[in-house]
Amino acid sequence: TATLALGLTACAGGGAGSADDGDASRDPSDITVGVAMPTQTSERWIADGNSVREGLEAAGFEVNLQFANDDIPTQQQQIDQMITQGADILIVASIDGTALANQLQAAADAGIPIISYDRLIRDTKNVDFYVTFDNFQVGVDQATSLLHGLGVVDADGNETGETGPFVVELFAGSLDDNNAHFFWDGAMQTLQPFIDDGTIVVGSGQTSIEQAATLRWSQETAQRRMEDLLTAHYGGGSGQLDGILSPFDGISRGIITALQNAGIGPTLAEGLPVVTGQDAEIASVALIDQGVQFSTIFKDTRLLAEQAVTAAKAFAAGQTPTPNDTESYDNGMKVVPSFLLQVDTVTADDIQSVLIDSGFFTPEQVARGQ
Ligand code: BGC
Repeated sequence: TATLALGLTACAGGGAGSADDGDASRDPSDITVGVAMPTQTSERWIADGNSVREGLEAAGFEVNLQFANDDIPTQQQQIDQMITQGADILIVASIDGTALANQLQAAADAGIPIISYDRLIRDTKNVDFYVTFDNFQVGVDQATSLLHGLGVVDADGNETGETGPFVVELFAGSLDDNNAHFFWDGAMQTLQPFIDDGTIVVGSGQTSIEQAATLRWSQETAQRRMEDLLTAHYGGGSGQLDGILSPFDGISRGIITALQNAGIGPTLAEGLPVVTGQDAEIASVALIDQGVQFSTIFKDTRLLAEQAVTAAKAFAAGQTPTPNDTESYDNGMKVVPSFLLQVDTVTADDIQSVLIDSGFFTPEQVARGQ
């Protein structure tokens, strides 16, 4: 008899060997997909949640979508509940990638396939597939755009011969998010040769990810660290500071606020340091358009959602989704088969071609910043 990978036989209430043998052709509307997203404080996750829900509903599935306010116990409870309420498949973007082992064990025991979304869930065998962007490349692109903004490389990433020295500061994401380490590693591999030859100088000397980290990717935390750095190493804002590596647009805006409050800028043309970013959040795209933030990394969450839906459909059909990477993402217990998407760097010159022409934002949104 047909027993699907996701244990649909059991969920249908018939049990193996029951008369209810038609499960392989179970109607999609009988299948519930639980979708656990980390937070609604950043617009990227709202967009992810909406796109995943729309894609799953278009495929005929029932959807149970939850956001967890960046609170780990809340996310644990939400996933527990999805399981007890009979979810057949889980799609999870974790807050703390190491905090869900119990939930996922319960899911696995119930035969529920688990798709790790954007952020790798660590320290458990119970992750069946991972959909994400090429996170190492994100870090490479962030560092490359920092070098571009400083004039060390050109728009194509070729060295210009400019040797500075340029003074920079480094910010990293939340250490409990596996991605933060990939972004950092990609960025530091790119910057290291320029640090080694003296083109780039980290003014504070804070060059470890622990020193640079920003718990929960918080804008306020980043603003405070930037204020402290300005006080401790830049005479409150009068010293030379040319660029800041930032891994996320929310962090970038915290950094920019601290700089502007110290009387620096307020625009690049008026001496604001080059600040990078990630996610193409509309508030940051507007700042890029206004010549304030230098760049961001665009991750097309519509495409990521589409991959998550494709993976859910495969599991629902009793199949295994097809990865395009089977070596990059070791979660501490296993190498998780992954589907990686590519990203785009966006500076002021790319807003039209990358963000508007693709229909991600309208020109009015960019002008309004929301
Ligand atoms: C995501 C980034 C995002 C960050 C903060 C990371 O896991 O990959 O796109 O900027 O979380 O939300």
